[in-house]
Amino acid sequence: MTVIAALLMLCCIAAMQLVVAAGLTRAEPVHWWTLICVTGLVVFYMLIRSGYSQRWEDPALTLFQMAYSITCAAAAYVIMGVARAAVLPILAVILFFGMFGLTPRQMLVVLFYGSAVFGLALAVVQWSPTYGGQPLALTAVYMIMTLVVLTSCTFLNLRVLAARKRKNELIQAVASERERAIRDELTGLHNRRFMLEMMHLEGARAQRSQQPLLIALMDLDHFKNINDTHGHAAGDLALCAFVRTVTEGMRATDFLARWGGEEFVLLMANTTVERGARLLERLRAAVQASPVELTTGASIRLTVSIGAAQLQLPQETPVGLLRRADAALYAAKAQGRNRVAWADDAAAGKAAISA
Ligand code: GH3
Ligand code: MG
Ligand code: MG
Repeated sequence: MTVIAALLMLCCIAAMQLVVAAGLTRAEPVHWWTLICVTGLVVFYMLIRSGYSQRWEDPALTLFQMAYSITCAAAAYVIMGVARAAVLPILAVILFFGMFGLTPRQMLVVLFYGSAVFGLALAVVQWSPTYGGQPLALTAVYMIMTLVVLTSCTFLNLRVLAARKRKNELIQAVASERERAIRDELTGLHNRRFMLEMMHLEGARAQRSQQPLLIALMDLDHFKNINDTHGHAAGDLALCAFVRTVTEGMRATDFLARWGGEEFVLLMANTTVERGARLLERLRAAVQASPVELTTGASIRLTVSIGAAQLQLPQETPVGLLRRADAALYAAKAQGRNRVAWADDAAAGKAAISA
């Protein structure tokens, strides 16, 4: 932005010099004006580039740069002689810079500051012996046009700022809506929808990198009994306790989601059947060893059945993998619950490991 401002100012200086060269105004004030403008620009540039301005609230110094530019423009209005109408579009450009960094309040400050400084410049042109001499009607025209530029630019800026605010609110609303859509309220885990996305992502990654990918379907045993005996609220508490136990026991790279009801899915990327089997057995034992204490003094014993499967390379889909894990879970239930069962392909590998 400072570079753009510098280029703009160079154009203004060139225009001013042209006015001087054409003999339309006195040279000396224009030279001083040029020196002051360039010095100010260099100071701003150095403050920003050196990082010194970082300690202030707005490191881009937008408000100060605008106030400075407006002051320079007002001075140019005074010293430009008959060419002074050229200042008005520059004033508009300066004001448009504000939409990139000013708050609506600062924008109003600029409006009042601009009106005051240009009011002063108009008065000087009208009444100073050096620069005066233009018809009062012309001064009135300049005054009206300056006010038109100042107020309409401020108005447009405020509209841009309001639109930006609405856009940010919308982005935030979409983000929080998305968060709601992928989270389970009770446990705070991600839900089935998000897990499916993750499974597709990790599945594709595993197929590409040829790394083993495991999933485990976890289903709490006789959970209906817990609800029936202790009530639904106690059941909810037990679900949260289960999630805590599993989360504490799993690795940072594992990903747990609530699949629905009292069923959960654990996704284990880059994990061999051997390591996965050890992990799942540890989790199963941890759940069994962590009874849920209720406020009534009663305690609920939880156990979990787990069906696990490894993604078959090179082409199994997450749906196929889930189907095999589900069959393994069914087998774990059929074999008496509170155990880990593996889908057929992985079972062979695991049998070899245990042997
Ligand atoms: P199994 O060992 O065969 O899995 O028996 P189960 O009783 O766990 O199986 P079933 O699928 O018949 O029962 C699941 C129960 O989980 C039924 C439902 O009331 C309960 N449940 C599902 N979601 C929630 C929940 O969010 N909170 C509570 N408290 N209970 C839930
Ligand atoms: Mg179930
Ligand atoms: Mg169950």
